[in-house]
Amino acid sequence: KDTDVTQWMNEVVDRFDMVVKDKNITFTRDFSEIPIHAVMDRDKMTQVVDNIISNAIKYSPEGGTVTVGSHIENGGAQIYIQDEGMGIPLKNQHKIFERFYRVDKARARNLGGTGLGLAIAKEIVVAHGGTINVSSEYHQGTRITIFLPSHFNPEAGDQSG
Ligand code: ATP
Ligand code: MG
Repeated sequence: KDTDVTQWMNEVVDRFDMVVKDKNITFTRDFSEIPIHAVMDRDKMTQVVDNIISNAIKYSPEGGTVTVGSHIENGGAQIYIQDEGMGIPLKNQHKIFERFYRVDKARARNLGGTGLGLAIAKEIVVAHGGTINVSSEYHQGTRITIFLPSHFNPEAGDQSG
């Protein structure tokens, strides 16, 4: 479905804004002024962004800020979710998109979850012809960046050119 990315992201963040009212987290929106369109399975991509924002909240300290952004990038949309949380050590970063992988077993046990969130997110993004990446500074914060081509036809191979 052809989606106005900024409008869709605004709706997602609106929903989280209501959920975190009593948790001490602030959302900042850094959305493109220029409309960005992408053809996507909106339910699935909402699941992806929900997962990443949930992680940002889960791994953030009290009073943290979570920034959600969107920008035009050669023929598609770049979306990012940035937090001020505990971060991920460089040596573990490449593993976080693997099934059941969790950085710190003890920490993960306290915070709950299965370690599937980002593996599923990656599957969905790749099925859209997109990419998902992490950049993180231990004890400083984490940024997850998604690129989505504006069009992708899986049957015909990557048409996002
Ligand atoms: P689930 O999403 O299945 O409930 P989960 O959150 O542990 O469980 P993923 O979302 O796949 O699993 O994340 C994998 C691991 O990556 C997490 O256990 C955590 O260690 C690390 N991680 C993910 N996002 C962040 C973040 N924003 N800050 C710090 N660590 C993170
Ligand atoms: Mg998760």
